Amino acid sequence: KVVTRFAPSPTGFLHIGGARTALFNWLYARHFGGTFKLRIEDTDKVRSTKAAIDAILDGMRWLGLDWDGDVVFQSERATRHADVVAALLESGNAYRCYATAEELAEMREAQRAAKQPIRYDGRWRDRDPSEAPAGAPFSIRLRAQTEGATTIDDRVQGPVTVNNAELDDMVLLRSDGTPTYMLAVVVDDHDMGVTHVIRGDDHLNNAFRQLGIIRAMGWPEPIYAHVPLIHGADGAKLSKRHGALGVDAYRDDMGMLPEAVCNYLLRLGWGHGDDEVISREQAVDWFDITAVGRSPSRFDLKKLENLNGHYLREADDARLATLVATRIPGADVARLTLAMPSLKTRARTLDEIADGAGFLFATRPLALDEKASALLDAAARALLVSTRDALAAAPDWSAAVLEDQVRRVAEDSGIGLGKVAQPLRAALTGRTTSPGIFDVLVLLGRDESLARIADAIA
Ligand code: GLU
Repeated sequence: KVVTRFAPSPTGFLHIGGARTALFNWLYARHFGGTFKLRIEDTDKVRSTKAAIDAILDGMRWLGLDWDGDVVFQSERATRHADVVAALLESGNAYRCYATAEELAEMREAQRAAKQPIRYDGRWRDRDPSEAPAGAPFSIRLRAQTEGATTIDDRVQGPVTVNNAELDDMVLLRSDGTPTYMLAVVVDDHDMGVTHVIRGDDHLNNAFRQLGIIRAMGWPEPIYAHVPLIHGADGAKLSKRHGALGVDAYRDDMGMLPEAVCNYLLRLGWGHGDDEVISREQAVDWFDITAVGRSPSRFDLKKLENLNGHYLREADDARLATLVATRIPGADVARLTLAMPSLKTRARTLDEIADGAGFLFATRPLALDEKASALLDAAARALLVSTRDALAAAPDWSAAVLEDQVRRVAEDSGIGLGKVAQPLRAALTGRTTSPGIFDVLVLLGRDESLARIADAIA
């Protein structure tokens, strides 16, 4: 049975790379009818904050990545971690190291000077602890294999081999009794029954060290899949400038829908033929970790926006109205819902919809933007007078009838429809772009429309 996990360190928000790792783990588990677990790696008490933990849980919920069972907090498992170290000590797979911090710094300095690789030289590996001064503090290190090589058959990277001589005897338990990250990950993954470790390829080197602990304990080895990190469109490592933001920024600041973000992250480094739009159900059906590419994928905000635009057009109007309403002071959800079909046709984000919907809730006299006021010159205002008269005479305030009336004005003046529509748009919305002008008239209603036109003529 497949068990995957997402194991973020809560030292910041749930960033976009972490969200993709979570999504891959979630999809893999769901595809195989397995289990997906969430573990918060909060052993760094200084940097792990409650706000960061909440942001991660919140982001996961928003993306619809539900986890099975309770959230595991690594910090609560320190006793268990220490117990495993005691067992390793007992079996001779670990030993006490009494080297002081100064001593180790000196050792490293000497290695640096001799241009040797920096690693623990095993000075306490075969020494008798009784040689240490009484009561001296010690850390506990793994007695690592020094001969041979370790190969990981990574599901994404393929087989990767490291000579064991390159892996030094790492610390498992610090002299203050706290477990190291390397140990905690291994113990927790084992206890949680994790069968597949899917994570960023910045952890590939760690996997070899982690395997050393797993083998020393005689535990089953998980299958590894180290996924390439996300890079910016320019190929450089993803930074804030590229959009390496928390998922909350995509939700709140930009106004993306979770289904668009998930679809985009899925397509980043994984594909199913040429399919761009992939539903959650299809993703669960089709996902396979071995099809994830080995080269870093490039984050492209434009693509995400276009995909978001697609999902906006598919989304339920009442749902969008609720989301957009929070972005417009004084907005009314019912009116927004009615307007949504015309508002969302070209928008790529909720923010753009909100921007385009502003005219609905604006109060008179309208503040015109620069282009709109430039457009309303004397000739345009004269045209607006005939337009107002034609609209006021409309037997019925429906889009079709209003269009007839405006067309007649254009014909009578011997000009194109656009020439009439533009001043009308400026007067009604204060902008030179808006949803279809007849929709705008209907959405504003007769009285408000005529009043806005009157303001512009005055
Ligand atoms: N806590 C680690 C991180 O946030 C992930 C550890 C793991 O997946 O094994 O990078």
